[in-house]
Amino acid sequence: MLFHSTRGKDKDKTFEQVLMQGLADDGGLFIPDNWPKVDINKLKELDTFLDVAKYIVPMFTQSSFDKGEVEEVLNNTWHNFSEKDLIKIFDIDESTAILELFHGPTAAFKDFGLQLAAAFFNKTLQTQNKTAVVFGATSGDTGSAAIDACKEFDLIKSFILIPDGNMSEIQRKQMTTVDKSNVFPILVSGTFDDCQDIVKKGFSERSFLRDDQYLLAVNSINWVRIIGQICYYFYASLIVNKLSHPLNFSVPTGNFGNVFACYAASKMGMPLEKIIVAVNSNDILDRFFKNNDYSKKTVSETISPSMDISVASNFERLMYDFYLNRNSEACSNLYNNFPEYGIKIDDEMWQKSVDLFMSYSINDDSTYESMKFYNNEYNYVMDPHTAVAAKAVSSLKDKLKNKTIILSTAHPAKFPNALDNAGIISDDIPDNLSEVISKKEVASKLSASEDSIFNYIKENN
Ligand SMILES: *Cc1c(COP(=O)(O)O)cnc(C)c1O
Repeated sequence: MLFHSTRGKDKDKTFEQVLMQGLADDGGLFIPDNWPKVDINKLKELDTFLDVAKYIVPMFTQSSFDKGEVEEVLNNTWHNFSEKDLIKIFDIDESTAILELFHGPTAAFKDFGLQLAAAFFNKTLQTQNKTAVVFGATSGDTGSAAIDACKEFDLIKSFILIPDGNMSEIQRKQMTTVDKSNVFPILVSGTFDDCQDIVKKGFSERSFLRDDQYLLAVNSINWVRIIGQICYYFYASLIVNKLSHPLNFSVPTGNFGNVFACYAASKMGMPLEKIIVAVNSNDILDRFFKNNDYSKKTVSETISPSMDISVASNFERLMYDFYLNRNSEACSNLYNNFPEYGIKIDDEMWQKSVDLFMSYSINDDSTYESMKFYNNEYNYVMDPHTAVAAKAVSSLKDKLKNKTIILSTAHPAKFPNALDNAGIISDDIPDNLSEVISKKEVASKLSASEDSIFNYIKENN
């Protein structure tokens, strides 16, 4: 099975090509040529997350690696998790459970996708006898998960731009206290958008690379990250009911990567009732699912910063596969004038949404309410991102059939100010985080100028 772009021009790519390239040449996003189908009876016999991953991942990688190679990579992929089977499921009541995806080294679910990405980056670099530069900007959890995932691999140097802004102190310290010779956190006096612009320029001009070096992106459009996330939807369904009944999943989302992984799992055969798309006041997705209005607005800063986005990059994959029935020309046309002009699709087409999706937008006050509610009623402390997904569930409860799984994407200790403001006291801090708090920060400080940043990379590459 090969991969092609949602805009149709970049096609017949192997897994390895898609992995190392990230974004398609025509500006679209890669998607598999067809959806591989699972054998539910085989999956039912599995026990652990790793078993599930060893079943799912090879379905996407066979164009580049044989099954034995993939199993070897996977045996060493997910590391430094504090839970034996990586994930814990906490039952709130008979109809609701929380899928805790934050037991990895950086205490957010991004460890699942980025550790898989780093493991395959490294495998490819070894095979091809090459090295790589990882270059990215972060507004929160991506940077720390990328740095952590790549730091053990000497063939990869990571340069991550950290803007002044709405990041928690712990999130920043997770990047600035790593102290490894192949890791370069850069504190930039500028906004996240400034940083992203510089990264974008970097990818087009590449002047700081040595000959024959890869430049790798770690943003959420890389297909390999979706694969890592598909695995935990199957795992959750396996643990909750042996894949026997459709579940609802409530997903706190920004860039739509995590939601798309859920959709992909259902296309592969996972029983699914509804996906609840839960967003903060950056509500482009909610406006689409409620009013068929996918248009860009300025970003507002919220207490769930990892979902503060103006457009949801991965949504293009859903548009292409679900609404447009894989018509790449139509997809190209829709995205041609976006984001200058918003997207509105044919009403009949848009009606399809109700079969599978519900959405909800939650402001900061309701997010605090939700954190308090679950703490008071169930003695369960959740982080503000999780609280957004939980609030969507309590608000939509009357419309939901079957059991609902709330995805918990970050450990609450990552957001101490939000806990404070909600009046929640908790001394549960994972070891990985408490170590970070006491360590010394080491980072270069640069202005938001391309020249200074590109020169810095060149000097240190
Ligand atoms: C990145 C992130 C999200 C949003 O993930 P998407 O894949 O963009 O939907 C939600 N919660 C946390 C804690 C995150 O770090």
